Amino acid sequence: MKRENARDGVCFLCGRDGTEDPLDFHHIFGGNAADRKKCERYGLKVRLCHGRCHIFGPEAAHNCAETMRTLRRYGQRKAMIEQGWTVDEFRFHFGKNYLDDEELEEIAAIQAESA
Ligand SMILES: [Zn+2]
Ligand SMILES: [Zn+2]
Repeated sequence: MKRENARDGVCFLCGRDGTEDPLDFHHIFGGNAADRKKCERYGLKVRLCHGRCHIFGPEAAHNCAETMRTLRRYGQRKAMIEQGWTVDEFRFHFGKNYLDDEELEEIAAIQAESA
């Protein structure tokens, strides 16, 4: 329990604990208020250092398309596995597929195992 809390309290990208740069919640698919609500509902948010990893740094989520993509791929994978969604169901909820065929096959295999 204690370990889980400690791990929850660090930046998803760099692992810092927020002492110098406070941690924000970043909604992985948070385009607008309704999207953010869906992210809350399915647990699709991560902690990020406010300046360095969330907003201002050269590789911050809102400053770097590559970082945003990495997070969205992580989020889609998490959502599909946890919710048991197909790619179409994911697309229905969040509008777009971010994974390639190989990754989708891998997820389908994980889903089949846990079904
Ligand atoms: Zn954000
Ligand atoms: Zn960070």
